[in-house]
This record gives sequence, structure tokens and C-alpha cells, in this order.
Amino acid sequence: MNIIDIITKKAKKEELTKDEIDYFVNNYVSGKIKDYQMSSLLMAIKINGMSFDETYNLTVSMLNSGDKIDLSSIDGIVVDKHSTGGVGDKTSLVVLPIVASLGVKIAKMSGRSLGYTGGTIDKLESIPNFNVELDFDKFISNVNSINLALVSQTKNLVPADKKIYALRDVTGTTESIPLIASSIMSKKLASGSDKILLDVKVGKGAFMKDINDARILAKTMVDIGNKFGKETIAVITNMNYPLGYTIGNSLEVLEAIDTLKGNGEENFTKLCLLLSSYMVSMGKNIDINEAYDLVLKKYNTEEPLNKLYDFIKMQGGNIDKIPVSNNVINIISDKTGFITDIDTLKLAMLCNSLGAGKTNKDDIINPRVGIKLLKQINDSVKTGDVLMEVYTEKEINELDYLDSIKISDEKIPDLKIAFDIIK
Ligand code: URA
Repeated sequence: MNIIDIITKKAKKEELTKDEIDYFVNNYVSGKIKDYQMSSLLMAIKINGMSFDETYNLTVSMLNSGDKIDLSSIDGIVVDKHSTGGVGDKTSLVVLPIVASLGVKIAKMSGRSLGYTGGTIDKLESIPNFNVELDFDKFISNVNSINLALVSQTKNLVPADKKIYALRDVTGTTESIPLIASSIMSKKLASGSDKILLDVKVGKGAFMKDINDARILAKTMVDIGNKFGKETIAVITNMNYPLGYTIGNSLEVLEAIDTLKGNGEENFTKLCLLLSSYMVSMGKNIDINEAYDLVLKKYNTEEPLNKLYDFIKMQGGNIDKIPVSNNVINIISDKTGFITDIDTLKLAMLCNSLGAGKTNKDDIINPRVGIKLLKQINDSVKTGDVLMEVYTEKEINELDYLDSIKISDEKIPDLKIAFDIIK
């Protein structure tokens, strides 16, 4: 077997066997297959796609490239959640404390920001002293004591994905359904939870711009999880607008706290309650309506907020000292009307350029910077109102920010927070 024959086969749209997939994954990880050969194969996969069997075999091969986390010392059903990546996506910081305060166990490994989308680990690291690298025994004992622990993926968790993802990032091969599905599911399966909730984002601020592609991605991942014997559900959610009011690491942690205090932005709060309900339904083996009632009741108590505080404390974080830049520039409306569109991708890129995310691999994230929208879709605004605050430690061009908000005379129809559920 050799890599040139495998590339040629995929370039001819033929189906690769399990042995061929194992061969290219193992030999790429070991260094025998070179970056230029793997890039060529990834591009052939991006262009010609993969069958479900190929995608499943690729997931298994990547999963077998490193450690598998054994969570059997946790009592009860452990439920994981994964977002395919959004803008202002701090849902985990709200959802996990709600779910954990209802007795469902969460032992989660999260990633860092990818491209313009944020990562939960970067957000948590904006809390001074928060430890995202607990040793394994402490990770398990935290889950057993407060139902919740969250760490960054260990170095040897799916090393094949680390190497392949880094190459995809610089070869124009990120946007491929089989490559995304195998990348996400290999990490979810290696992380050891019993059940998996996937939040598949679709829209202007997501990797998937088209609802049909999002459905295919969701179905592929759900089928992989289920074939592995793990109940997997995907919720396809709206990523046409930033989630909530903030984008940027510290600002998003503070917004998660506000949301748990009951002061969250309406659509963002609804989304968190929906995702929490699916996790609770899976964790307790109950119907979704029953789970929703439990979630809503719990959300209206102080327990989820206290759970978030406990979780932060157990991992060493100091909630009283979350740093936010004190240089704040107000972006002022030059029109009167209703906000009818927000250029989510543009705002995400602007936030990255402030230092909230990475433009190059070696960039260092500045947790203090970001954007706080004071208005969301369909809010009315008057000339002179502050539309958003930019927390920055660099010079900015205010017009770039102003241009990302569209103001019209008429409201748009109410936004949908979710489009579909795939089981
Ligand atoms: N998230 C991942 O982990 N992998 C992808 O390919 C895309 C999003």
C-alpha cells in the first residue's frame, strides 16, 4: 500500500477501505507520510467527499491514534456537549452549571478558539488562576463532588486530529463535512462520556453557512455516535447573529454570570435553556418536556449560579478579579430605527484583530478585550444611542464597527433559535 495510490483513488472519487484509511492516518502521525502528501489527500477528500463508512472508519482510526479517557469511576450517566463553533458562544458556561445542578454529571474536555470562533478554554482562562489542566484524579473527584469539571484536551487526545487540523487550517481544507465530523467525533468519543449533545451552528457566523450542509453534518455525527453505542443528539442552531451581547473572553464570562442571574439576552437565554433540556433529558432518561420543566424551575433559583461559582473555585479561579480593559470606545448610532442585521463574521474578525482570538497560530490572546453590544436584533435605536462598547488596547477604526450594524425602518420577523433536532 502507498500514499500515492490512495490519493489517486480518492481523486477518482473511489471509496477508500478501512485499511487504506488506517494506513494514511497512522503513517501521517508517525511522520512517514509528508505534509504535502497529506494536503493533497485532504483536498481530494474535500472535493470528492467520503461515504458514511469512510467517515466512520476515519473517525475510528483517528480515535485510536491516542489516549481514551476512562470515566467509569464516575457514578451515573456522563453527558458531554459540543458546539461546532460560534461567535459569542458562551453557552457552555451557562448550560453546564444548570445541568450539573440538576444532578447530571459532566466531565468535559474542551478546545481553544478555532479561526474566528471562540473556545471555552480561552474564556475560562480569562479568570485569574483558573486551572484548565487538572490531573486526572482531581478531574474525576471534582465531577464526583460537584457534578462538573472542565479541562483542556490532553496532549495525547487524538494526536491525529491535532496534526491533521493544523494542516487543514493552512491548506483550505477546513470546510469539509467528513473532515469536520471525524475531527469532532474522534475527540468526543475519546473523551469518554456516555452521551453526547451536539450544537451544530449554521449561518453567517458558523463554519456551516447552509442549512442542508448543517443537517448532513449533524446526521453524520449523530450516526457515528450512535454506531459507537453512545446516544447522540444534534440541535441545529442559528448562528446568523452573535450569541447574547458580548464577544471576547472576559466579557463572555461576565455575561454568563449575568445570564445565570436572570439578566441574559432573551434569545441567548432561550438557547441555553433548550440545550440544557436536551442534556438533562439524556442524563436522566426523561422526556424533553419533562426535562424542560425541570430546567426552567432550576434556572429560576440561585443554584446554577452557585454551581458556576463552585466549579470556578474548585479549579482555582478567582471570580472577583476578571480583568476587563478599562479603555472603552462607544460606537454611536447615526440613524433612528430598528436593528435588522448584524454582520457577525465581521464583528468576529474585528474582535480577533483586537486580540480576543488568534489570527496566527502563535498569537497570544488578550482576555480583556472584546465587544459588548448594547442592542440586539429588532431593538429600537435613536441617533446618538450607544450601539456597542469596544474594549480595546489598540487603536480602532470606529466606522468598521458602525458598518457592521444595519438599521432599518421596520423590524424583521422574530429570530428562530433552532432549526432542527437530529437524533
Ligand atoms: N471543530 C473541530 O474540532 N474540528 C473541525 O474540523 C471543525 C470544528
